[in-house]
Amino acid sequence: MKIMKRPNILLTGTPGVGKTTLGKELAQRTGLTYVNVGDLAREGQLFDGFDEEYQCPVLDEDRVVDELEDKMGGGGMIVDYHGCDFFPERWFQIVFVLRTDNTNLYSRLEGRGYTGKKLLDNVQCEIFQTIYEEAMEAYDEEIVHQLPSNEPEDLERNLEQIVQWLEQWMKDNN
Ligand code: ADP
Ligand code: MG
Repeated sequence: MKIMKRPNILLTGTPGVGKTTLGKELAQRTGLTYVNVGDLAREGQLFDGFDEEYQCPVLDEDRVVDELEDKMGGGGMIVDYHGCDFFPERWFQIVFVLRTDNTNLYSRLEGRGYTGKKLLDNVQCEIFQTIYEEAMEAYDEEIVHQLPSNEPEDLERNLEQIVQWLEQWMKDNN
């Protein structure tokens, strides 16, 4: 039996924009494998030092890449992380940057317990579209797409669009 080729999908964007919500549901609907890079790092202690300013461990990007390399080579992965410039460009066939309006994001992050500088820096990250620009720098601009992620209707539409893209990709590449 011939094994079907499947693409790898990157879901990125500022914390709170809805990457994990979308990624898990997408995995359910498509059978692709969801990977949360933050969780992976915690489980494997893939950290390299501690950020005093933000009071959080610093990701060991090289070890994260090593850890994921074999799985990514096989395709069919959905990767969720609030950064994207340290992954090998060749890993991904498509990159989605989720976007949320400021007031909306502010209340989501507040609800998550973010306060003070951490809260403001993350909202500012979204206002300055930092992650979108990072993605446009790191990948072929043609494969980078922004997805609005403000309300449940956005989630549903994003899911439908990605499923459709995936079906077309499978036809074109198998
Ligand atoms: P991220 O993984 O990007 O940090 P999450 O998926 O954890 O974001 O979502 C952050 C919060 O926003 C959660 O409370 C989630 O339920 C909510 N959320 C995510 N996507 C949407 C959406 N499209 N509409 C409304 N709320 C959403
Ligand atoms: Mg998340």
